[in-house]
Amino acid sequence: MNRSIAKLGTTIFEVMSGLARETGAINLGQGFPDAQGPAELLDAAARALRDKSNQYPPMRGLPELRAAIAHYYAAQQGLTLADEEIVVTSGATEALAACIFALLNPGDEIIFVQPLYDAYVPLAELVGAVPKLVSLEPPHWRLPMAAIRAAVTSKTRVILLNSPHNPTGSMISATEFEMLAEICVANDIVLVCDEVWEAMVFDGTRHVSPLAIAALRDRAVKIGSAGKIFSVTGWKVGWLCAAPPLASMIARAHQFLTFTTPPALQWAVAEGLMLPPEWHKAHVQSHADGRARLEQGLRAAGYAVLSSSATWFLHVDLPGSGIHIPDGQFSDRSVREAGVVTIPFSAFYAQDPETRFVRFCFTKPEAMLDEALARLARFR
Ligand code: PMP
Ligand code: GLN
Repeated sequence: MNRSIAKLGTTIFEVMSGLARETGAINLGQGFPDAQGPAELLDAAARALRDKSNQYPPMRGLPELRAAIAHYYAAQQGLTLADEEIVVTSGATEALAACIFALLNPGDEIIFVQPLYDAYVPLAELVGAVPKLVSLEPPHWRLPMAAIRAAVTSKTRVILLNSPHNPTGSMISATEFEMLAEICVANDIVLVCDEVWEAMVFDGTRHVSPLAIAALRDRAVKIGSAGKIFSVTGWKVGWLCAAPPLASMIARAHQFLTFTTPPALQWAVAEGLMLPPEWHKAHVQSHADGRARLEQGLRAAGYAVLSSSATWFLHVDLPGSGIHIPDGQFSDRSVREAGVVTIPFSAFYAQDPETRFVRFCFTKPEAMLDEALARLARFR
């Protein structure tokens, strides 16, 4: 067996959703909405399945989807993207894998900031790259610029960042990207930015992509996911955007990972991305109510909720809430004793340390959130 695979356990999201299925607990763990997804998208997918080709689409994605991605980013983020700068992938996960496979050789270094999404480090280790980890610190979880600078060596090829950030909801600012640009240009580093949560931004906050920063335009890769933009996490339609030479290099890895992704879903996502900005605004707003409900309910029950302006998650400071057990123990007990699944922050660290934080997903129906809140209030 491959040595990097041999040391892997089962991802926390599968473990916790498995526990929810087994015990009947309310699942505020893995990030997915309970709703089916927007009717416009479901209808478009059903129509495409019946009326369009179900055979292999082009390797870089349907031209109509690539055009729709360019249209969406022009409208939402003011970006100008040419057709040859877009590669459609099977979810953001495949885009991440393709970047890592295409950009790194064994022994090369890749810088990550933790807490981090649990796929990053295993993917890097699979190609024999060396992960260099720097940490975000609570309560603001700002990028540790000095630590990033200090982590760069002559072997650093990639800095992989996540903004908006899962699990903390923190976002990288234009000024921070300008500082990162200096580091990347001086050391010939590619910046890969996982932006899957770019649309799930609340409180009037604005998402910034590194592709909007002139000095990063040719050395940044932007990764997106229709699963998050349209609340259809099982669809696994994602993409990456980068200057043509970078996009072509990464597409070479993509062609031998999945080659393509189901055409009916690509057609549906293309239709969705062409929906007017008001539709997208209303869709984000539909998540804001659950967010406010969970935040108020947790506070009322005595939990210390940290502020966060993006993603589908809120996080709670356990000692700040007067709860003096490690995060893993809290999540374990909240399933078994309260019947509510949560995700401990330690799952977002490579070394699995104990942390003070637990993550809750709010994209659930009101009644489910209310029941979870009642259970969590009794539990503490
Ligand atoms: N990156 C981050 C930060 C995520 O949170 C997720 C999934 N929630 C992904 C990547 C994976 O996205 P996809 O389902 O499109 O593969
Ligand atoms: N990204 C989702 C989350 O953070 C889960 C994705 C997965 O299950 N692999 O909850």
